[in-house]
Amino acid sequence: MKVLVVGNGGREHALAWKIKQSPLVKELYCAKGNAGIWQIARKVDISPTDIKNLVKFAKEEKIDLTVVGPEQPLSEGIVDAFEEAGLKIFGHRRSSAILEASKVFAKNFMKKYGIPTAFYETFDNENEAVEFVKKMGTPIVIKADGLAAGKGVVIANSEEEAVNTIKDMFGGRFGEASKRIVIEEFLTGEEASYIAMVKGDKLVPMATSQDHKRVFDNDKGPNTGGMGAYSPAPLVTPEIEKEILEKIMYPTLRGMQSEGRELCGFLYAGLMIGEKGINVLEFNVRMGDPETQPIMRRLKSDLVEHIMDILEGRIESVKPEWSEDYSIGVVMASAGYPGKYEKGKVITGIEDAEKDPDIVVFHAGTDIKDGNLVTSGGRVLTVTATGKTLTEAKEKVYRAVEKIHFEGAHYRRDIGDKGIKRLKQ
Ligand code: ATP
Repeated sequence: MKVLVVGNGGREHALAWKIKQSPLVKELYCAKGNAGIWQIARKVDISPTDIKNLVKFAKEEKIDLTVVGPEQPLSEGIVDAFEEAGLKIFGHRRSSAILEASKVFAKNFMKKYGIPTAFYETFDNENEAVEFVKKMGTPIVIKADGLAAGKGVVIANSEEEAVNTIKDMFGGRFGEASKRIVIEEFLTGEEASYIAMVKGDKLVPMATSQDHKRVFDNDKGPNTGGMGAYSPAPLVTPEIEKEILEKIMYPTLRGMQSEGRELCGFLYAGLMIGEKGINVLEFNVRMGDPETQPIMRRLKSDLVEHIMDILEGRIESVKPEWSEDYSIGVVMASAGYPGKYEKGKVITGIEDAEKDPDIVVFHAGTDIKDGNLVTSGGRVLTVTATGKTLTEAKEKVYRAVEKIHFEGAHYRRDIGDKGIKRLKQ
């Protein structure tokens, strides 16, 4: 088979790494990829959102399967375009991708189908939004409706901050994406990511995981795309998983079906588990980044076979096998991220780190310049390790991280700690 992966990040490197191991795959391509992906896949110099040219390429090269990583091409209709051209692709159509692309849609959908989520209202004008904040008090959460690359959510701790955020959003901070906003109740608890491969009203759960959104240790500092993750997440006990499936995942699949927006692809529920039970913070219509990296390290069975079975109507036969090991991924980021950062810093030490067979380094913002491996994004690498225990995986991953260098590199030092603490209880 010829397989094309669409996307440029650490998630796509992990997907490509796993797909490459499939005996079904003869040729692997990636549009556009990064310096790590280009070591294992042929570089296709087409942007992930240049749908027209991706269809053309896939037709000419006779690609048998395309797997889409990020949300942008999905919400811009890459799946619809591939299907129209008779090409096989794993991902949601535009009409279903709205579950991530519009938070107003997602919140109204959850309300309609009784899926637990924070109390909220949606607004398209400043005055009513400000009135609502005054009534609700702070902390309060303000979200731009549309896609804002993980930056469209503000947790306002004072009324002043909330009002300024509302003004900013309606003032066009995120363009079209913040013409409408959601304001919702601030929930406390611990977050977990629940991901499944889905089609219609059926699903195949992936291993559980936990992301770390804030930039600094102990969940301090601004939100990022994600600074690290581990799998499995002991927070998600079998009882909690049962509840997630019964109260969230299956009602979502059935609800989307009855809206005429059948899902097919990866479905991610970002959850807050706390005093108010299990609540959905957001849905993503793709795998998480960095959750994909530790999850793929634990998948023993063939991802390509699973995807083909799902696309060809055999989802009931899909039984992924997971390693008993724990795995952790630590993101190494550029100085200044999630704010402004410089690019072009030379990266060294990856080969040394990967001498340990339990270490795999996935690239995100990397490029080749003048024969050197250099940084080219905010999140640069996800270093992953596996271990018999979460503590062992943590020790290994940080030993590897310390071997890798680029100017200004920063990373969290506490990835896995919440899980380790929970396991000791
Ligand atoms: P992503 O980058 O994952 O796509 P996003 O921009 O779509 O994120 P959300 O996942 O909705 O945004 O929110 C980002 C983060 O903000 C959450 O992971 C969580 O830490 C925090 N958050 C969101 N909603 C709430 C809430 N109601 N109460 C408390 N914290 C929240």
